[in-house]
Amino acid sequence: MKAAIVTVGDEILIGQITDTNSGYIAKALDKIGIGVFEMLSVSDDRLHILNTLAFLQNRVDVVIITGGLGPTKDDITKTSLCEYFDDHLVVNDEVLAHVIEIIEKALQRPASQLNKDQALVPSKAKVLHNAVGTAPGMWMKRADTVFISLPGVPYEMKYIIDNQVVPKLVAEFERPYIIHKTIITYGQGESLVAERIEDWENNLPDFIKLAYLPSPGKVRLRLSARGTDEALLRAGIEAETEKLKNIIADIIVGYDEGETMEVMLGRLLAKKGKTIAAAESCTGGKIAQMITSVPGSSAYFKGSAVTYATSAKINILKVNPQLIDVYSVVSAKVAESMAKNAKELFGTDYAVATTGNAGPYKGDSAVEVGTVYIGFATPNGVYSAKFEFGQPREKVIDRASGKALEIIYQ
Ligand code: ATP
Ligand code: MG
Repeated sequence: MKAAIVTVGDEILIGQITDTNSGYIAKALDKIGIGVFEMLSVSDDRLHILNTLAFLQNRVDVVIITGGLGPTKDDITKTSLCEYFDDHLVVNDEVLAHVIEIIEKALQRPASQLNKDQALVPSKAKVLHNAVGTAPGMWMKRADTVFISLPGVPYEMKYIIDNQVVPKLVAEFERPYIIHKTIITYGQGESLVAERIEDWENNLPDFIKLAYLPSPGKVRLRLSARGTDEALLRAGIEAETEKLKNIIADIIVGYDEGETMEVMLGRLLAKKGKTIAAAESCTGGKIAQMITSVPGSSAYFKGSAVTYATSAKINILKVNPQLIDVYSVVSAKVAESMAKNAKELFGTDYAVATTGNAGPYKGDSAVEVGTVYIGFATPNGVYSAKFEFGQPREKVIDRASGKALEIIYQ
Protein backbone atom coordinates (compact mmCIF):
# COMPACT_ATOMS: atom_id res chain seq x y z
CA MET A 1 0.00 0.00 0.00
CA LYS A 2 1.62 3.20 -1.20
CA ALA A 3 0.86 6.82 -0.46
CA ALA A 4 1.98 10.22 -1.70
CA ILE A 5 1.68 13.59 0.00
CA VAL A 6 1.13 16.81 -1.91
CA THR A 7 1.34 20.24 -0.31
CA VAL A 8 -0.12 23.12 -2.27
CA GLY A 9 0.86 26.72 -1.77
CA ASP A 10 3.10 29.39 -3.22
CA GLU A 11 4.27 30.34 0.26
CA ILE A 12 6.00 26.95 0.56
CA LEU A 13 7.68 27.31 -2.82
CA ILE A 14 9.04 30.78 -2.12
CA GLY A 15 10.41 29.62 1.23
CA GLN A 16 8.10 31.81 3.31
CA ILE A 17 6.80 28.87 5.31
CA THR A 18 8.29 25.45 5.81
CA ASP A 19 6.15 22.44 5.07
CA THR A 20 5.53 20.68 8.37
CA ASN A 21 2.25 19.06 7.29
CA SER A 22 3.95 16.34 5.25
CA GLY A 23 6.01 15.12 8.20
CA TYR A 24 2.96 14.90 10.41
CA ILE A 25 0.97 12.99 7.81
CA ALA A 26 3.88 10.67 7.03
CA LYS A 27 4.19 9.72 10.70
CA ALA A 28 0.47 9.08 10.99
CA LEU A 29 0.52 6.87 7.87
CA ASP A 30 3.64 5.04 8.96
CA LYS A 31 1.94 4.11 12.24
CA ILE A 32 -0.82 2.32 10.35
CA GLY A 33 1.51 0.58 7.95
CA ILE A 34 1.12 2.79 4.90
CA GLY A 35 4.40 3.70 3.25
CA VAL A 36 4.85 7.17 1.81
CA PHE A 37 6.77 6.98 -1.47
CA GLU A 38 6.63 10.57 -2.67
CA MET A 39 6.21 14.04 -1.23
CA LEU A 40 5.61 16.92 -3.59
CA SER A 41 5.04 20.63 -3.15
CA VAL A 42 3.08 22.42 -5.85
CA SER A 43 2.35 26.03 -6.62
CA ASP A 44 -1.18 27.49 -6.37
CA ASP A 45 -1.45 26.96 -10.11
CA ARG A 46 -4.26 25.07 -11.80
CA LEU A 47 -2.15 23.36 -14.42
CA HIS A 48 0.53 22.26 -11.97
CA ILE A 49 -2.04 20.88 -9.57
CA LEU A 50 -3.79 18.96 -12.36
CA ASN A 51 -0.50 17.59 -13.69
CA THR A 52 0.48 16.45 -10.22
CA LEU A 53 -2.81 14.62 -9.67
CA ALA A 54 -2.48 12.91 -13.03
CA PHE A 55 1.15 12.04 -12.32
CA LEU A 56 0.25 10.30 -9.05
CA GLN A 57 -2.82 8.51 -10.43
CA ASN A 58 -1.98 4.76 -10.55
CA ARG A 59 1.48 5.31 -9.03
CA VAL A 60 0.08 5.18 -5.48
CA ASP A 61 -3.08 4.02 -3.71
CA VAL A 62 -3.62 7.16 -1.67
CA VAL A 63 -2.77 10.80 -2.34
CA ILE A 64 -3.11 13.22 0.56
CA ILE A 65 -3.23 16.87 -0.44
CA THR A 66 -3.05 19.81 1.97
CA GLY A 67 -3.60 23.51 1.37
CA GLY A 68 -5.50 25.77 -0.94
CA LEU A 69 -8.98 25.03 0.41
CA GLY A 70 -9.69 28.55 1.65
CA PRO A 71 -12.43 30.79 0.29
CA THR A 72 -10.09 33.29 -1.36
CA LYS A 73 -9.20 33.46 -5.05
CA ASP A 74 -5.68 32.16 -4.51
CA ASP A 75 -7.03 28.90 -3.09
CA ILE A 76 -7.75 26.73 -6.09
CA THR A 77 -7.29 23.14 -4.93
CA LYS A 78 -11.06 22.55 -4.81
CA THR A 79 -11.78 23.82 -8.30
CA SER A 80 -8.77 21.91 -9.64
CA LEU A 81 -10.12 18.71 -8.05
CA CYS A 82 -13.45 19.37 -9.72
CA GLU A 83 -11.74 19.70 -13.05
CA TYR A 84 -9.67 16.55 -12.53
CA PHE A 85 -12.76 14.54 -11.51
CA ASP A 86 -14.95 16.11 -14.18
CA ASP A 87 -17.23 17.28 -11.40
CA HIS A 88 -18.94 20.44 -10.15
CA LEU A 89 -19.37 22.11 -6.75
CA VAL A 90 -22.55 21.66 -4.73
CA VAL A 91 -23.57 23.06 -1.36
CA ASN A 92 -23.24 20.53 1.44
CA ASP A 93 -25.96 21.36 3.97
CA GLU A 94 -24.22 19.89 6.99
CA VAL A 95 -21.04 21.78 6.24
CA LEU A 96 -23.03 24.96 5.66
CA ALA A 97 -24.72 24.69 9.07
CA HIS A 98 -21.31 24.07 10.67
CA VAL A 99 -19.72 27.05 8.88
CA ILE A 100 -22.52 29.39 9.96
CA GLU A 101 -22.27 28.18 13.55
CA ILE A 102 -18.47 28.57 13.71
CA ILE A 103 -18.44 32.04 12.13
CA GLU A 104 -21.27 33.38 14.26
CA LYS A 105 -19.80 32.02 17.46
CA ALA A 106 -16.22 33.09 16.81
CA LEU A 107 -16.78 36.42 15.08
CA GLN A 108 -20.16 37.50 16.45
CA ARG A 109 -21.39 38.42 12.98
CA PRO A 110 -23.41 36.70 10.28
CA ALA A 111 -21.44 34.49 7.90
CA SER A 112 -20.55 36.24 4.63
CA GLN A 113 -21.02 34.70 1.21
CA LEU A 114 -17.28 33.99 1.13
CA ASN A 115 -17.62 32.06 4.40
CA LYS A 116 -20.61 30.14 3.09
CA ASP A 117 -18.64 29.15 -0.01
CA GLN A 118 -16.62 26.88 2.28
CA ALA A 119 -19.65 24.58 2.18
CA LEU A 120 -19.24 24.08 -1.60
CA VAL A 121 -17.75 20.66 -2.28
CA PRO A 122 -17.38 18.53 -5.41
CA SER A 123 -20.54 16.43 -5.78
CA LYS A 124 -18.50 13.21 -5.94
CA ALA A 125 -16.62 13.94 -2.70
CA LYS A 126 -17.27 12.39 0.69
CA VAL A 127 -16.91 15.10 3.30
CA LEU A 128 -14.47 14.66 6.20
CA HIS A 129 -15.76 16.69 9.13
CA ASN A 130 -13.52 19.51 10.35
CA ALA A 131 -14.63 20.37 13.90
CA VAL A 132 -11.93 23.00 14.35
CA GLY A 133 -12.35 25.06 11.17
CA THR A 134 -14.62 25.89 8.28
CA ALA A 135 -12.94 24.08 5.38
CA PRO A 136 -14.01 20.41 5.30
CA GLY A 137 -11.71 17.61 4.21
CA MET A 138 -12.69 15.70 1.07
CA TRP A 139 -12.28 12.07 0.05
CA MET A 140 -12.56 11.22 -3.65
CA LYS A 141 -11.72 8.16 -5.69
CA ARG A 142 -10.74 7.82 -9.32
CA ALA A 143 -9.96 4.35 -10.65
CA ASP A 144 -8.03 2.66 -7.81
CA THR A 145 -6.54 5.80 -6.31
CA VAL A 146 -8.03 7.71 -3.38
CA PHE A 147 -7.46 11.47 -3.30
CA ILE A 148 -7.86 13.15 0.07
CA SER A 149 -7.82 16.94 0.23
CA LEU A 150 -7.30 18.73 3.56
CA PRO A 151 -6.93 22.35 4.71
CA GLY A 152 -3.38 23.69 4.95
CA VAL A 153 -3.72 25.13 8.45
CA PRO A 154 -1.72 22.63 10.53
CA TYR A 155 -4.13 22.17 13.45
CA GLU A 156 -7.10 21.70 11.10
CA MET A 157 -5.14 19.21 8.99
CA LYS A 158 -4.10 17.32 12.16
CA TYR A 159 -7.66 17.15 13.44
CA ILE A 160 -8.96 15.63 10.21
CA ILE A 161 -6.01 13.24 9.84
CA ASP A 162 -6.39 11.89 13.39
CA ASN A 163 -10.17 11.78 13.57
CA GLN A 164 -11.26 11.06 10.03
CA VAL A 165 -8.52 9.99 7.64
CA VAL A 166 -6.66 7.46 9.77
CA PRO A 167 -9.78 5.61 10.99
CA LYS A 168 -11.20 5.53 7.45
CA LEU A 169 -7.96 4.24 5.92
CA VAL A 170 -7.69 1.57 8.61
CA ALA A 171 -11.26 0.47 7.91
CA GLU A 172 -10.96 0.41 4.13
CA PHE A 173 -7.52 -0.96 3.35
CA GLU A 174 -5.61 -4.06 4.29
CA ARG A 175 -2.16 -3.03 5.32
CA PRO A 176 1.03 -4.75 6.41
CA TYR A 177 2.17 -4.04 9.91
CA ILE A 178 5.15 -1.83 10.52
CA ILE A 179 6.57 -1.81 14.02
CA HIS A 180 9.38 0.44 15.15
CA LYS A 181 11.47 0.42 18.24
CA THR A 182 14.12 3.00 18.99
CA ILE A 183 17.01 2.31 21.31
CA ILE A 184 18.77 5.41 22.55
CA THR A 185 22.47 5.22 23.27
CA TYR A 186 24.51 7.91 24.83
CA GLY A 187 28.17 8.88 25.02
CA GLN A 188 29.73 6.97 22.10
CA GLY A 189 29.92 8.06 18.46
CA GLU A 190 28.09 6.42 15.59
CA SER A 191 31.09 4.56 14.21
CA LEU A 192 32.11 3.14 17.58
CA VAL A 193 28.56 1.97 18.21
CA ALA A 194 28.45 0.45 14.73
CA GLU A 195 31.66 -1.48 15.37
CA ARG A 196 30.42 -2.83 18.64
CA ILE A 197 27.16 -4.14 17.18
CA GLU A 198 28.46 -5.23 13.78
CA ASP A 199 28.04 -8.98 14.36
CA TRP A 200 24.55 -8.55 15.73
CA GLU A 201 23.58 -6.29 12.83
CA ASN A 202 24.86 -8.78 10.24
CA ASN A 203 22.66 -11.48 11.75
CA LEU A 204 19.40 -9.54 11.89
CA PRO A 205 16.46 -11.41 10.33
CA ASP A 206 15.36 -10.20 6.89
CA PHE A 207 12.13 -8.61 8.10
CA ILE A 208 13.96 -6.30 10.52
CA LYS A 209 15.83 -3.22 9.33
CA LEU A 210 18.22 -1.08 11.35
CA ALA A 211 18.79 2.66 10.99
CA TYR A 212 21.36 4.84 12.77
CA LEU A 213 20.11 8.29 13.78
CA PRO A 214 22.98 10.26 15.31
CA SER A 215 22.59 13.60 17.07
CA PRO A 216 25.00 15.42 19.42
CA GLY A 217 25.96 13.03 22.24
CA LYS A 218 23.39 10.46 21.21
CA VAL A 219 22.91 7.72 18.67
CA ARG A 220 19.39 6.38 18.24
CA LEU A 221 19.12 2.92 16.75
CA ARG A 222 15.78 2.37 15.09
CA LEU A 223 14.60 -1.17 14.43
CA SER A 224 11.74 -1.51 11.95
CA ALA A 225 9.90 -4.74 11.30
CA ARG A 226 7.53 -5.07 8.37
CA GLY A 227 5.21 -7.96 7.58
CA THR A 228 1.73 -9.43 7.91
CA ASP A 229 1.99 -11.26 11.24
CA GLU A 230 1.96 -8.66 13.98
CA ALA A 231 2.80 -11.06 16.83
CA LEU A 232 5.81 -12.38 14.94
CA LEU A 233 7.07 -8.85 14.26
CA ARG A 234 6.74 -7.84 17.91
CA ALA A 235 8.48 -10.99 19.12
CA GLY A 236 11.28 -10.42 16.61
CA ILE A 237 11.83 -6.83 17.70
CA GLU A 238 11.85 -7.79 21.38
CA ALA A 239 14.28 -10.67 20.83
CA GLU A 240 16.68 -8.44 18.90
CA THR A 241 16.43 -5.68 21.52
CA GLU A 242 17.36 -8.20 24.23
CA LYS A 243 20.42 -9.31 22.26
CA LEU A 244 21.43 -5.71 21.75
CA LYS A 245 21.08 -4.98 25.46
CA ASN A 246 23.64 -7.68 26.19
CA ILE A 247 26.16 -6.04 23.88
CA ILE A 248 25.81 -2.33 24.69
CA ALA A 249 24.05 -2.17 28.07
CA ASP A 250 26.62 0.42 29.23
CA ILE A 251 25.46 3.06 26.73
CA ILE A 252 21.69 2.44 26.46
CA VAL A 253 19.83 5.25 28.19
CA GLY A 254 16.27 4.75 27.01
CA TYR A 255 13.86 3.52 24.41
CA ASP A 256 11.58 5.02 21.81
CA GLU A 257 11.05 8.49 20.45
CA GLY A 258 10.25 11.26 22.86
CA GLU A 259 12.96 9.89 25.12
CA THR A 260 14.86 13.16 25.07
CA MET A 261 17.42 14.30 27.59
CA GLU A 262 14.82 16.58 29.20
CA VAL A 263 12.39 13.68 29.57
CA MET A 264 15.09 11.44 31.02
CA LEU A 265 16.34 14.13 33.39
CA GLY A 266 12.78 14.88 34.51
CA ARG A 267 12.09 11.24 35.25
CA LEU A 268 15.31 10.96 37.25
CA LEU A 269 14.64 14.09 39.31
CA ALA A 270 11.02 13.12 39.96
CA LYS A 271 12.13 9.65 41.07
CA LYS A 272 14.72 11.05 43.45
CA GLY A 273 12.46 13.85 44.67
CA LYS A 274 15.08 16.48 43.78
CA THR A 275 14.63 19.94 42.33
CA ILE A 276 16.51 22.00 39.78
CA ALA A 277 16.92 25.63 38.70
CA ALA A 278 18.96 27.40 36.04
CA ALA A 279 20.81 30.65 35.46
CA GLU A 280 21.18 31.35 31.78
CA SER A 281 23.22 33.82 29.83
CA CYS A 282 24.08 32.70 26.31
CA THR A 283 21.30 30.06 26.24
CA GLY A 284 18.71 32.81 26.78
CA GLY A 285 16.07 30.64 28.43
CA LYS A 286 16.48 27.58 26.20
CA ILE A 287 17.30 25.37 29.18
CA ALA A 288 14.09 26.46 30.90
CA GLN A 289 12.16 25.94 27.67
CA MET A 290 13.53 22.39 27.26
CA ILE A 291 12.80 21.41 30.85
CA THR A 292 9.28 22.87 30.82
CA SER A 293 8.42 21.20 27.51
CA VAL A 294 7.97 18.04 29.61
CA PRO A 295 4.51 17.74 31.18
CA GLY A 296 4.82 17.46 34.96
CA SER A 297 8.07 19.42 35.13
CA SER A 298 6.57 21.64 37.84
CA ALA A 299 7.36 18.81 40.26
CA TYR A 300 11.09 19.43 39.99
CA PHE A 301 11.78 22.67 38.10
CA LYS A 302 11.72 25.91 40.11
CA GLY A 303 12.77 28.44 37.51
CA SER A 304 15.52 30.02 35.48
CA ALA A 305 17.06 33.45 35.78
CA VAL A 306 17.85 34.68 32.27
CA THR A 307 20.62 37.10 33.14
CA TYR A 308 21.98 38.18 29.79
CA ALA A 309 23.60 41.50 30.68
CA THR A 310 26.51 41.66 33.10
CA SER A 311 24.46 44.04 35.24
CA ALA A 312 21.70 41.40 35.52
CA LYS A 313 24.24 38.81 36.67
CA ILE A 314 25.35 41.23 39.36
CA ASN A 315 21.96 42.63 40.39
CA ILE A 316 19.75 39.58 40.14
CA LEU A 317 22.11 36.67 40.67
CA LYS A 318 24.41 38.56 43.05
CA VAL A 319 27.54 37.56 41.18
CA ASN A 320 30.44 39.46 42.74
CA PRO A 321 31.51 42.26 40.34
CA GLN A 322 35.13 41.72 41.30
CA LEU A 323 34.93 38.15 40.03
CA ILE A 324 33.78 39.51 36.67
CA ASP A 325 36.58 42.13 36.62
CA VAL A 326 39.28 39.62 37.41
CA TYR A 327 38.16 36.57 35.41
CA SER A 328 35.85 38.16 32.79
CA VAL A 329 32.17 37.49 32.47
CA VAL A 330 32.67 34.38 30.36
CA SER A 331 34.74 32.30 32.74
CA ALA A 332 34.66 29.22 34.93
CA LYS A 333 34.45 31.31 38.08
CA VAL A 334 31.44 33.29 36.90
CA ALA A 335 29.64 30.14 35.67
CA GLU A 336 30.21 28.53 39.07
CA SER A 337 29.05 31.62 40.93
CA MET A 338 25.91 31.83 38.75
CA ALA A 339 25.07 28.18 39.46
CA LYS A 340 25.77 28.43 43.18
CA ASN A 341 23.68 31.59 43.56
CA ALA A 342 20.81 30.23 41.44
CA LYS A 343 20.71 27.15 43.67
CA GLU A 344 20.33 29.44 46.68
CA LEU A 345 17.98 31.91 45.00
CA PHE A 346 15.54 29.18 43.95
CA GLY A 347 16.18 26.91 46.92
CA THR A 348 16.85 23.81 44.83
CA ASP A 349 19.04 20.71 45.09
CA TYR A 350 20.72 21.38 41.75
CA ALA A 351 21.34 24.38 39.56
CA VAL A 352 22.98 24.74 36.18
CA ALA A 353 24.35 27.92 34.61
CA THR A 354 25.66 29.01 31.23
CA THR A 355 27.88 31.89 30.23
CA GLY A 356 29.51 32.05 26.83
CA ASN A 357 29.89 33.74 23.49
CA ALA A 358 27.40 32.30 21.01
CA GLY A 359 28.76 34.52 18.20
CA PRO A 360 28.87 35.24 15.38
CA TYR A 361 31.09 38.19 16.43
CA LYS A 362 33.90 38.03 18.91
CA GLY A 363 33.42 41.71 19.80
CA ASP A 364 35.28 42.64 22.97
CA SER A 365 34.63 39.20 24.45
CA ALA A 366 37.63 37.67 26.26
CA VAL A 367 36.90 34.30 24.69
CA GLU A 368 36.60 32.86 21.19
CA VAL A 369 33.25 32.60 19.46
CA GLY A 370 31.53 29.37 20.51
CA THR A 371 33.14 29.14 23.94
CA VAL A 372 30.69 28.33 26.72
CA TYR A 373 31.29 27.67 30.40
CA ILE A 374 28.68 25.53 32.11
CA GLY A 375 28.54 25.77 35.88
CA PHE A 376 26.66 23.30 38.03
CA ALA A 377 25.86 23.38 41.70
CA THR A 378 25.01 20.11 43.42
CA PRO A 379 24.51 19.06 47.04
CA ASN A 380 28.19 17.97 46.95
CA GLY A 381 29.78 21.10 45.58
CA VAL A 382 30.08 23.52 42.70
CA TYR A 383 31.83 22.68 39.44
CA SER A 384 32.23 23.95 35.91
CA ALA A 385 33.39 22.81 32.51
CA LYS A 386 34.52 24.65 29.40
CA PHE A 387 33.21 23.80 25.93
CA GLU A 388 33.98 24.94 22.39
CA PHE A 389 30.81 24.57 20.35
CA GLY A 390 32.03 26.41 17.24
CA GLN A 391 29.41 28.07 15.07
CA PRO A 392 26.70 28.94 14.03
CA ARG A 393 24.96 30.70 16.88
CA GLU A 394 21.92 28.37 16.93
CA LYS A 395 24.20 25.35 17.24
CA VAL A 396 26.07 26.90 20.17
CA ILE A 397 22.80 27.61 21.97
CA ASP A 398 21.39 24.13 21.26
CA ARG A 399 24.56 22.29 22.20
CA ALA A 400 25.13 24.33 25.36
CA SER A 401 21.55 23.77 26.54
CA GLY A 402 21.68 20.05 25.77
CA LYS A 403 25.07 19.71 27.47
CA ALA A 404 23.83 21.50 30.59
CA LEU A 405 20.99 19.00 30.98
CA GLU A 406 23.34 16.09 30.32
CA ILE A 407 25.77 17.23 32.99
CA ILE A 408 23.03 17.34 35.58
CA TYR A 409 21.71 13.97 34.38
CA GLN A 410 25.08 12.38 35.04
P1 ATP B 1 -7.44 28.70 4.78
O1 ATP B 1 -8.88 28.33 4.81
O2 ATP B 1 -6.95 29.19 6.11
O3 ATP B 1 -7.05 29.61 3.64
P2 ATP B 1 -6.17 26.65 3.23
O4 ATP B 1 -6.58 25.22 3.15
O5 ATP B 1 -6.47 27.50 2.07
O6 ATP B 1 -6.70 27.27 4.56
P3 ATP B 1 -3.54 27.54 2.87
O7 ATP B 1 -4.12 28.85 2.47
O8 ATP B 1 -2.82 26.76 1.86
O9 ATP B 1 -4.66 26.61 3.48
O10 ATP B 1 -2.66 27.69 4.14
C1 ATP B 1 -3.12 28.37 5.28
C2 ATP B 1 -1.97 28.52 6.23
O11 ATP B 1 -1.62 27.25 6.78
C3 ATP B 1 -0.67 29.01 5.59
O12 ATP B 1 -0.56 30.37 5.54
C4 ATP B 1 0.37 28.39 6.47
O13 ATP B 1 0.58 29.21 7.59
C5 ATP B 1 -0.25 27.10 6.89
N1 ATP B 1 0.21 25.99 6.03
C6 ATP B 1 -0.30 25.67 4.82
N2 ATP B 1 0.34 24.60 4.30
C7 ATP B 1 1.27 24.25 5.20
C8 ATP B 1 2.25 23.21 5.25
N3 ATP B 1 2.39 22.33 4.25
N4 ATP B 1 3.04 23.14 6.34
C9 ATP B 1 2.89 24.02 7.34
N5 ATP B 1 2.00 25.02 7.37
C10 ATP B 1 1.19 25.14 6.31
MG1 MG C 1 -5.80 29.76 2.10
